Amino acid sequence: MNQYDVAVIGSGPGGYVAAIRCAQLGMKTAIIEKYSTLGGTCLNVGCIPSKALLDSSHHYEEAIKHFEDHGIEIPGEIKINLEKMIARKQAVVDQTTKGIQFLMDKNKIDVFEGKGSFKDNTHITIEPSKGQPQTIEAKNIIIATGSKPSTLPFIKLDKERVITSTEALKLKEIPAHMIIIGGGVIGLELGQVYKRLGSEVTVVEYMDRIIPTMDAALSKELLKVLKKQKVKFLLSHKVKSVERKKNEVIIKADDKKGVEVILKGDYCLVSVGRRPYTDGLNAEAAGVQLDDMGRVAVNNNLQTNIPNIYAIGDVVKGAMLAHKAEEEGTMVAEIIAGQKPHIDYNLIPGVVYTWPEVASVGKTEEELKEAGVEYKSGQFPMRALGRSRASMDIDGFVKILADKKTDEVLGVHMIGARCADLIAEAVTAMEFRASAEDISRMSHAHPTYAEAVKEAALAATDDRALHI
Ligand code: FAD
Ligand code: NAD
Repeated sequence: MNQYDVAVIGSGPGGYVAAIRCAQLGMKTAIIEKYSTLGGTCLNVGCIPSKALLDSSHHYEEAIKHFEDHGIEIPGEIKINLEKMIARKQAVVDQTTKGIQFLMDKNKIDVFEGKGSFKDNTHITIEPSKGQPQTIEAKNIIIATGSKPSTLPFIKLDKERVITSTEALKLKEIPAHMIIIGGGVIGLELGQVYKRLGSEVTVVEYMDRIIPTMDAALSKELLKVLKKQKVKFLLSHKVKSVERKKNEVIIKADDKKGVEVILKGDYCLVSVGRRPYTDGLNAEAAGVQLDDMGRVAVNNNLQTNIPNIYAIGDVVKGAMLAHKAEEEGTMVAEIIAGQKPHIDYNLIPGVVYTWPEVASVGKTEEELKEAGVEYKSGQFPMRALGRSRASMDIDGFVKILADKKTDEVLGVHMIGARCADLIAEAVTAMEFRASAEDISRMSHAHPTYAEAVKEAALAATDDRALHI
């Protein structure tokens, strides 16, 4: 029987990073993945393909709406070739997942294709789609089985017209009217893709604002921008039925006064969150406990109730983000190796890759108010930057929240061009417990979008932004 120091179940960003770090630390490592490609949700049906389609559709929108303003004239009609767009996305995915296989080989990690299930707390049975099952033994096991789209009890996902993000990434036609249930990250990113490609898009959201877990100012600004782009929103609406009739989907929802609204479209994207995935893992055979939300229960060291079994990523508590899963993968490998790593979960940034991009780190204004923290706020609009005007990306702002007495930065919230990358400066600053004044005194290259971070810091320090 194959024996390992560590076996990782699941090859998403949590699992494959854990495996690499274990191998780097000298442990004999195996990784088990039920699908034939590595990389999990993120690389196959999540982060990478969605960003590929966001980029393609953004180019199209630029070409049809903004090229002329830049003095670029394209004779003839600009057309979408959806098949080609989806094929390019798939090529990006294929290249990226092959890259993970390369990394496994480079780090001498044994890859097993098949569904892993616990036999006991040191043995895993691997059932390939073809061929005989085999069992491996491992001193330590890391569960990194991720998540799957969740749905509402009354919805039948037929995966043709009533779909999840997985199907929305490979549609064969551009929907005439896509109705999206859930105005969170997936609904807005994929909603924007199809809006740009020409679909009518209606988002039905249960809460009174979109991206409800982010700072309310970001929700408000993104809503304004998306409405300008003609995405329709029904906020504070509770969906109560979804019916498919041939090529039509009919969605019924109640508004906050209980008045029924009926929507008709040709596709319904259900994006109401994701659920932790432990199906077929047979966690009970190892004695591993789940919590009341179906997640693998872990302590602060990401250790389950069985000391040699750990769990990371979407299958445990916390934000369902690829970079959170990666940090946890590294942390667990180092714990197994006897080190004492630490993750500051407050400093895991969140990003929505719409355009303008939305990014956030630390506490929101609502959280500070609720905790009774005295804070000050500095905000700077993107439109006041020379860089923004040069590119005509003028929507959005950067907002910095700092402790009223000490000036320590407590939260940074931004919306605008390239904010997904700009947020890294805020994370770095907060890791080093910078004050708003520290950021305001750093030189920021001109002209850049990053100047908005400096200006917001100046505004927070002493209400002395320079360019407004
Ligand atoms: P996963 O990536 O879900 O990987 C788990 C793996 O385990 C899967 O490959 C699965 O097949 C395998 N597995 C499960 N059970 C078994 C078993 N019993 N045996 C063997 N293998 C098994 N996050 C971001 O940070 N940025 C983004 O831009 C972003 N965009 C997203 C877009 C979409 C459309 C979606 C759906 C998600 C997106 N996410 C994004 C979230 C991100 O994909 C997840 O947070 C991340 O993939 C979680 O990583 P993980 O390793 O925990 O699990
Ligand atoms: P989400 O939690 O971001 O959003 C779900 C939305 O659905 C929320 O706004 C919620 O209020 C709403 N909702 C819930 N029940 C509803 C109902 N009955 N009717 C109407 N609205 C309802 O979840 P998601 O968009 O499905 O994404 C799943 C996960 O994937 C998220 O945790 C996210 O972190 C991750 N993800 C991340 C990125 C990124 O980092 N850019 C991109 C895509 C997905």
